[in-house]
Amino acid sequence: MTMEKTALFPGSFDPFTLGHKAIVERGLSIFDHIVVGIGVNTEKRSLLAPQKRADLVREVFTGDDRVTVALYEGLTGDFCRSRGIRHILRGIRNAADFEYEHNMEMANTRLYPEITTTAIFTPAEYISVSSRLVREILAMGGDASLFLPHNIDIDTYL
Ligand code: ADP
Repeated sequence: MTMEKTALFPGSFDPFTLGHKAIVERGLSIFDHIVVGIGVNTEKRSLLAPQKRADLVREVFTGDDRVTVALYEGLTGDFCRSRGIRHILRGIRNAADFEYEHNMEMANTRLYPEITTTAIFTPAEYISVSSRLVREILAMGGDASLFLPHNIDIDTYL
């Protein structure tokens, strides 16, 4: 019997970029199903409201039922447990990401020993892509479409 493997890909995704998309695509070579988990942080000011961020990710993966989207509050590990998910997927661009992700992995492994974190390297062309970069371009009235999934018109979400 084969067990379906599901991973949670948690993040702010404000907004979801081509870099995030590449991690989901690479993740689908390991996992059968990926839940893009949009962490709702009421303290943090955001470009897009959480529901809009979710709608955008759903549009990116329209027609691909291997990818679903969920909003959650609180700790990522607690959300995984509530859903019976035992894998966390994260992306790594550089040494700074590695350091951060490794620390998160160590904390999560102490707190949630049954959950395994898998980190995937980003394709070289997306190393400099970040949600923050996209937000800054948009704040200055620029065109960020180069860094966003190609079927997305960000103006419809702002
Ligand atoms: P967080 O606020 O939790 O860091 P983000 O939405 O910024 O959430 O990122 C979610 C995950 O995607 C993180 O693991 C982050 O390192 C990764 N990520 C962000 N941008 C890229 C990119 N260009 N290539 C690969 N991974 C990325």
